[in-house]
Amino acid sequence: MGGKGGKVTVRTVCGVPDYQRCGLSVEVRDGVISKVRPADFPDPVDKGACEKGLAASELVYHPDRLRYPLKRVGERGGEEWRRVSWDEVLDSIVAELQRIATKYGSTSVAWTAPILSNLTGGGYSRLISLTKGTWVDWWGCGDAAGPCADMATFGSPMGERYLRNFNDPRFTIVWGYNPAVTVYPFMRRITRDRKKGCRVVVIDPRFSETAARADEHVPIRPGTDGALALGMINLVLEHGLQDERFIAESTVGPLLVRGDNGLFLREGDLVEGGSGRSFMVFNESADRAQPSDTPGVTPAITGVYTVSGIKCRPAYQVLADMVREYTPEWVSQITDVPQDVIGRLAIDYATQKPASIYRGWGMQRSYYGDLSCRAINTLAAITGNIDARRPSSFVLNAHPFLMPGGPYTSIPLMLLHDAITKGEPFPIKALMCTWHNLVTQMPNTNRVTSELLPNLELLVVCDLFMTESAKYADYVLPVASFFECTDLCRADLQHPYLQLQQKVIEPLYESRSDFQIAAELGRKMGYGEYFDKTEEQYIEEILASGHPTMEGVSVERLKQGPVMAKPLERPQQLGTPTGRVEFYVESIKQFGQELPIYLEPVESARSEKAKSYPLTLLSTHPESRVHSTLANIPSLLKKVPEPALQINPSDAEPRSIVDGDVVRVFNDRGQLKTRAELSTGIKPGVVNITEGWWPGQYIEGHLNLLTHDMINPVQQHILQPNAAFYDVLVEVERV
Ligand code: SF4
Repeated sequence: MGGKGGKVTVRTVCGVPDYQRCGLSVEVRDGVISKVRPADFPDPVDKGACEKGLAASELVYHPDRLRYPLKRVGERGGEEWRRVSWDEVLDSIVAELQRIATKYGSTSVAWTAPILSNLTGGGYSRLISLTKGTWVDWWGCGDAAGPCADMATFGSPMGERYLRNFNDPRFTIVWGYNPAVTVYPFMRRITRDRKKGCRVVVIDPRFSETAARADEHVPIRPGTDGALALGMINLVLEHGLQDERFIAESTVGPLLVRGDNGLFLREGDLVEGGSGRSFMVFNESADRAQPSDTPGVTPAITGVYTVSGIKCRPAYQVLADMVREYTPEWVSQITDVPQDVIGRLAIDYATQKPASIYRGWGMQRSYYGDLSCRAINTLAAITGNIDARRPSSFVLNAHPFLMPGGPYTSIPLMLLHDAITKGEPFPIKALMCTWHNLVTQMPNTNRVTSELLPNLELLVVCDLFMTESAKYADYVLPVASFFECTDLCRADLQHPYLQLQQKVIEPLYESRSDFQIAAELGRKMGYGEYFDKTEEQYIEEILASGHPTMEGVSVERLKQGPVMAKPLERPQQLGTPTGRVEFYVESIKQFGQELPIYLEPVESARSEKAKSYPLTLLSTHPESRVHSTLANIPSLLKKVPEPALQINPSDAEPRSIVDGDVVRVFNDRGQLKTRAELSTGIKPGVVNITEGWWPGQYIEGHLNLLTHDMINPVQQHILQPNAAFYDVLVEVERV
């Protein structure tokens, strides 16, 4: 750590909450951060840091930074505060938490701690576990539909990594993704692959920064990605380009589906005492149905079979029969992608192997985004473009650290409203809000401020700044930045390293690290024995898993630099009920979505509602912020000083809008005012405002006054519902 006197350089990890974990080399002069540079990695392709990470030290020295704990003295939201000591504020919070837990039950105290860090979120996790509280699972704030699809297809919420091939792909589709401004480690890999001859195609309604660096851009109507994938599957099958071996060995393709109830045929359906977990296939060599794990079985993947009077088809045949409806003509009319492009994409993806898909988060922010992602997963599966050997992370000993009191209750973000306002499925009355800015980032802000917040008996916000959410709090606690605290950063999807986030300077003012805050609360609640070690000692505990991949990894070793995860030697056993890639999911048969069918967006530009609100609003991720974090950083604001509505000239002209005009963007939920930015880079019929701007940065209103919080029951059934931020209709007029 850099103290006073002289110059030191400390290797740490960028803690801006996009979880890319870029290594940073930070120079400290006389106790003050003077320079931030990208730090080295064993593979140079992993070295890099974006302008956000390089500017993040401005968070530390920002004049608006919170300096000491605050207690509300007037009406909630009235922004009248009294400075209080840490001791007083923690005593008051503990008393309130205990009162609420006694009155409504322990699960009525909810926490919004991040899950992807160890100490930073882990301290709160320990408290949730020890107090039997509730953890708010924030994935549904725009990032849960893809994981729903992956749970259904691969039995793992982050299974989309199996679609990415890092081993010199010849063809790459970057689908609904803009890694050039959001996931730099991926962009560096894509650029390297392209230099080696890989053809890169970007599918996106916008000519994004990534599209500008690709070989081809395919503009698509928002929310129709599933239709495109199904059309491509249809063409792959028509041309006989499917990977039949992969389908038979690794997917549900050969499993027989009963015609009478749509469920997989099981041994137990046929034989008294037979297994209900043994799935039947039609063994072509024996000319009869047998369990799929019968030695030497050669399962059929096509055909129609009658087994003990039950008419069945292999799941692949069911899929093939379904996708026949997705003709190039129909798909082109739905997606706005020309037929010849659909054909070329399908054939290149099936034949230019290894082929890779970077499946982004754009298309899954449509109401039926899980279906779109499942269709893309299915395309990858039937062409055999799946590699289940990608390591996800080191084997860490995190569970005992995170949950010393046992597992705890969690609630999906999208169900938080009903828990707070109606007590369903259980009441929540206290919200400990860390690492989240719910007022600006949750959909349908009006419902958040008028219904959700007034029904809380306690709101505590831990942050570096007086965010819009903090303004509604009863207590505001000043948190240390990532430069001011130690943590362990595990391997994430973007690169397979374990790193140490080393404390670079001591926390400024009266700020404390999240771990310190959790530990102090824990001690005051009577859990002192669970918070009696130093941060480094807890990290050593987490590292001590005994797993071979962790041998020799210690805090001391991590201080020397990042340690790389070893790839798995064999493909992992998938966590689906069949242990196979499931493009046919019998557990959601009741919803009619056992196959990844296409459904029109819930706020479709081809619906009745579009007569009043004809434009589809996107809210893509910006280059200069991560959600609402860094929205107040001076050097980043110099580049993009205010929000803007991107609109195609063909949509602007009939509305008499010229570049720079102030416009009103509105629908039946709310409105905002901002400047128009005319761009041919956005598809006609689509408008875009980058998400994460703070309310005061608009001329009037805010983005999430326009979005909705409709719950998708299928997503809720699989994993959790997602906020459909990109499935929103609006109208625009010049002010
Ligand atoms: S990509 Fe993310 S983690 Fe890396 S430097 Fe930028 S903000 Fe930090």
